[in-house]
This record gives sequence, structure tokens and C-alpha cells, in this order.
Amino acid sequence: MDQLQQLLDDVCAGHRLTQQEALKIFRVRGKHIWAVAAAADSVRQAKAGDAVTYVRNQNINVTNLCVNNCGFCGFSKKKGEKGIYFYDKHEIQKKAALAASRNVTEICTVSGLHPDFNAESYQNVYRWISEAAPGVHIHASNPMEVAYAAKKSGISTQMVLAAMKDAGLGSMCGTAAEILVDSVRKKICPQKISTSEWVRIIKEAHRIGIPTTATIMYGHCESEHDRVKHLGILRKIQDETGGFTEFVPLSFIHMNTPLYKKGLARAGATGREDLLMVAVSRLFLDNFKNIQVSWVKEGVKMAQLGLLAGGNDLGGTMFEESISKGAGAVNTDYLDPAEMRRIAEDIGRTLVRRTTLYELFP
Ligand code: SF4
Repeated sequence: MDQLQQLLDDVCAGHRLTQQEALKIFRVRGKHIWAVAAAADSVRQAKAGDAVTYVRNQNINVTNLCVNNCGFCGFSKKKGEKGIYFYDKHEIQKKAALAASRNVTEICTVSGLHPDFNAESYQNVYRWISEAAPGVHIHASNPMEVAYAAKKSGISTQMVLAAMKDAGLGSMCGTAAEILVDSVRKKICPQKISTSEWVRIIKEAHRIGIPTTATIMYGHCESEHDRVKHLGILRKIQDETGGFTEFVPLSFIHMNTPLYKKGLARAGATGREDLLMVAVSRLFLDNFKNIQVSWVKEGVKMAQLGLLAGGNDLGGTMFEESISKGAGAVNTDYLDPAEMRRIAEDIGRTLVRRTTLYELFP
């Protein structure tokens, strides 16, 4: 314990954790978990203050038809399956206008990789949203969608990103990262882009002024070592570009996923793992100001505890959510800011509304 406490004290005093040290902290058990959470909480206070931030946002998943077969996905459908949807311009604009009427500042869209999509399809979606919800920030796409659009249109990923930006993309989702270790990706999402492609596209986005989030999906078949490698990749990118707005740990929702049904994944992370994921991220990612806790993935009560273990952001209100629901999560549709305020104030913090890029509302 003395050694652990010394290490935690060193981090609080500015020491940059090595991957080996982060691995040790990921493996902490028993009451020492609280010491880790307390250190992460101190770092959070020094870096991000006492505000618990959130954004008013709405999801629009344009289609659930997807050419890929990721083992952790309970959302996508294949041709011929029941329950497929694919919204057209009219439907997308209706949803975007509804979002605007709810006073959101952000619309998110991530969808299945529709067999007919190309770069122009993504541009059209962003233009339609911009027309129907002028001034609302579009937080959309991810490196997998960019790679797919580039392949389908026979152009480079830089060209796709530039075209998306031109069509209204304000920031890109750092999803499709899952675990940035190719041996794990081969097991959970063999058709997805490789680690190096994900990194390349993220850096390309940052270089042309498209900020992105950074994510990890944990609690399936990855090891603690894989998590540390993943965090190491993200910290290095942030050192180079400074283009990540926040880090979002995403706890694996297992119930309806092929990976779990085939016995290839665990039944998600435990509470200890959820807490340590937030805490180690806060301690290791010294170049990130914002660490988000996902009420969608972890539930509101666990998310509240994450706010005591290094988290400073509650993400979005959502209004419409299909990805986690498809995988078996419940109560993912909407979290009222009044409830966010209740859980923030319950731990002595203040809820503050923000934009996607963390400008705070007075
Ligand atoms: S995670 Fe995305 S790319 Fe993979 S199957 Fe699901 S919708 Fe398709």
C-alpha cells in the first residue's frame, strides 16, 4: 500500500504515469481502490474544477443496416432481417427540427455502414441536418465511417474529412476505437479498420480542425494490459495534436451481443473495473481535461460514483439512443438535466451546461 500511495502522491504532484505503473493501478483490489479514486478525484479538481458538465444533445441513427459484423454490436441488422430502418431526407429533417425545438446544441449521428453509402451520402445527411437545425453543432461519424466512405467513393480519407467538414461536420466521434490493439480487434471486430488506420484518420481530422472525442470499449475479452496500451496510444496522439475534447470510457453492454452469446466475452465490466477505468484514465491521461462518465453504459448510480473517481462530465441528455439499447441496455433514451443536477449536488458539485466543445453556459 505504501508503494501505491507513494505512486498516487507522485501523480498528484505531476509525475507522468508509465504504462507499467498504470497496469499496476488497474490491478488494485480491496479498499485500496478508494485510494486510487481519491487521487483521481484530486487530479480532476485541479484540472477541471468542481463543475459537472453536460450537453443537451440528440442522437439520429440514420440506419441500422450495416455491412460489418462486429461481435459486440447488438444494434446492426443485415439485409432481410426484421426491424431494419433507413431514414430519408424528410425523416432526418423532421428529427433534426424536433431536436432543435428541444433546445439542443448538438446532434449526433453514427449509423450502420449502409451498403449504398458513399462520401456524398454522409455529406447529404450533414447538410440536411444543418438546414433543419441551423446553428446546432453536428457531432458525427467516426474513423470507420470515414474509411468506409473513402473506399466507396474511391477518394482519400483526408478528402472525405474535408468534404464532411464542408457539409457541416463540427466534430467527429472517437468511436470505432474499441480497443486499439489489433489482436483484440481481430476477435471483436475483424472487419473494422486497424489500429494504425484509426490513429491516422483521427490525426488527419485533428490536423484539419475537426476535434474528436476519444473512447475505449472495455469489459469484454481485453486484458488490463490491452487497456493500458490503448491509453498510451491516446495520450501520444493528444501530445501531438491536442485535438481530443474528452475521453469517454464505454463499458461493454453484453446482453444481446454475438460475442457474449458465443461465450467469447465476459458479462461486462464489474463495478470495480468501471471505477478504476475512470480513475486510471484521469491519472494516466494527463493531457486530457475532460473525462466523461457514461450514464448510458453504466447507469446513473455508477456514473455518479465515477464523478467521485476522476470524472467531470456526464455527457449528453440524449433524447434518442439506439446503440446501447440494441445491445440490451435499459433507460438509455433520455436523462433529464434535473436528475443530473440531483446526482451532482448529492456529491457536493455543481451541474453546468456546456456546448460540445466545452464552452460553459452562464
Ligand atoms: S459496431 Fe458499427 S460497424 Fe460494427 S456492426 Fe455495429 S453498426 Fe456496424
